[in-house]
Amino acid sequence: MKSKTYSYGKQNIDRDDIESVVEVLKSDWLTQGPTINEFEKALADKFGSRYAAACANGTAGLHLIALGLGWSKGDLIVTTPITFLASANCAIYAGANVDFADIDERSYTIDPEKLEDKIKYYRAKNIHVKAVVAVDYAGHPCDWEALKNLKEKYGFQLINDFCHAPGAEYKNDYHYAVNYADAVNMSFHPVKHFTTGEGGAVLSNDREFIDRVKILRTHGATKDPRILEKNDGPWYYEMHEVGFNYRITDFQCALGISQLKKLDSFINERRKIAAYYDEFFKNDDRFITPIVNENSKHAYHLYPLQIKFEELGISKKEFFDKMKEKNIFLQVHYIPVHLQPFYKKRFGFKEGDFPEAELFYKREVSIPIYPGLNEEDLEYITGSIVGALDSMK
Ligand SMILES: *Cc1c(COP(=O)(O)O)cnc(C)c1O
Repeated sequence: MKSKTYSYGKQNIDRDDIESVVEVLKSDWLTQGPTINEFEKALADKFGSRYAAACANGTAGLHLIALGLGWSKGDLIVTTPITFLASANCAIYAGANVDFADIDERSYTIDPEKLEDKIKYYRAKNIHVKAVVAVDYAGHPCDWEALKNLKEKYGFQLINDFCHAPGAEYKNDYHYAVNYADAVNMSFHPVKHFTTGEGGAVLSNDREFIDRVKILRTHGATKDPRILEKNDGPWYYEMHEVGFNYRITDFQCALGISQLKKLDSFINERRKIAAYYDEFFKNDDRFITPIVNENSKHAYHLYPLQIKFEELGISKKEFFDKMKEKNIFLQVHYIPVHLQPFYKKRFGFKEGDFPEAELFYKREVSIPIYPGLNEEDLEYITGSIVGALDSMK
């Protein structure tokens, strides 16, 4: 057995990263300084966005989007059941209601046809869908063309929870996130493509919206002369609505700037690992490997391998335990959000509401994918997976 341990994802920090953080630690500004603007500019340049607002984490980013877009009590927000809790929770923070549209079985992202069915169902009851939070799950872009057409037809706000997909491409467009969605959310948690420890950002081409996000990020307080009702002097600020302290620090942004430079090389490594797994699992019908649509390039935040546990009569839990014995710590992304007790209780969701998501949950296993895994690691991981399944027949 190996002494090395493997998890489904892991950060990659080098000397340049460390030195850039140390430099800011020695400067005058630990927070609210110039490195934040620099990071925002670097993000906007990289992802083709006119504006960017960095913040405390991706969940804060989603909350700021919800408030910045004016969601409030009674509004209806639709998202995918296969996502992290925060994609739905942000609606709850704003007092809004949540519903889901099931995933497409090929891309594991929100199915535009099912989304349209849901919108029509509510229209018949005279209820308007205020916004759709689509998630580029695992790093595979949603069907953004179809989502944008629905947005134009039904007039909802379109959000890309882009936490998995920086580095992905849709229709040869690296900048697709901002080009299709009204607001884009990012996270720089260590398990994501590049990290600031904790951190997040909101991207948009709408200046007014980003200005609002930046005010809400700092308690709702502003010194913007266009907004002030009066001005008592240089110390003066006003609060017009309540915000939060969702700021990020300058030394985190220094790490972000340094990490962002390596995003494309990180993505290349992830694609090589994915190609190895694709090749390894493709001819074994116990597995389903992730499909990449022809119009897309995958960013592989995750490698969601489906194992047909139910057909094989194998317990997923037992499989996890066997992998743990091999020092391979897998994860499952995600428990369908509608099956969380909170959502069941609040909105009456139940087992069977979103069958594609529920079947996917039964089968999905996130296997290790991150820069630094070498051929020997991949042989060990794939060998252990097959070995565990063979031993459980
Ligand atoms: C990570 C993640 C978030 C939340 O980001 P944090 O920085 O952990 O708050 C939201 N949505 C998705 C899809 C994520 O993967």
